[in-house]
Amino acid sequence: MTASIKITSSEEIFETSGVQIFKDKVIFKNSLLTEQSIPINQITTINLGKFGFHENQVIIETIDNKKYKIFIKASDQKKFRDTIHQVQQLNKERTVKTSETISRDKKKCPFCAELIIVEAKKCRYCGEFLDKSKEV
Ligand SMILES: [Zn+2]
Repeated sequence: MTASIKITSSEEIFETSGVQIFKDKVIFKNSLLTEQSIPINQITTINLGKFGFHENQVIIETIDNKKYKIFIKASDQKKFRDTIHQVQQLNKERTVKTSETISRDKKKCPFCAELIIVEAKKCRYCGEFLDKSKEV
């Protein structure tokens, strides 16, 4: 089975030897073959196993200091880590965007009276350009 990375609208992003990465979690089977999941945004460090018998394992640490040992083919480890970092970055950007939109101050457009963002240079409703220099 070959690993693939594709961040699309579909839920599953990456899969390798029984380990799956979704937009919000990683799902894997532990040594007892029980399925476990780790929320992506709680992952703090991902250490790749390097030598001999550790070659096939990745140690994931989370915010609450839990450690998870995941078995992954050595050749897929970097991709696995990169994908998680990518997903974390995307999630972060999404969160920032959402909170920005919420906290932005609004004002009424002088042309059409719709509520628009204070810093807007152009009204998104009527398309008029708002010349900031005229406001004092
Ligand atoms: Zn307007």
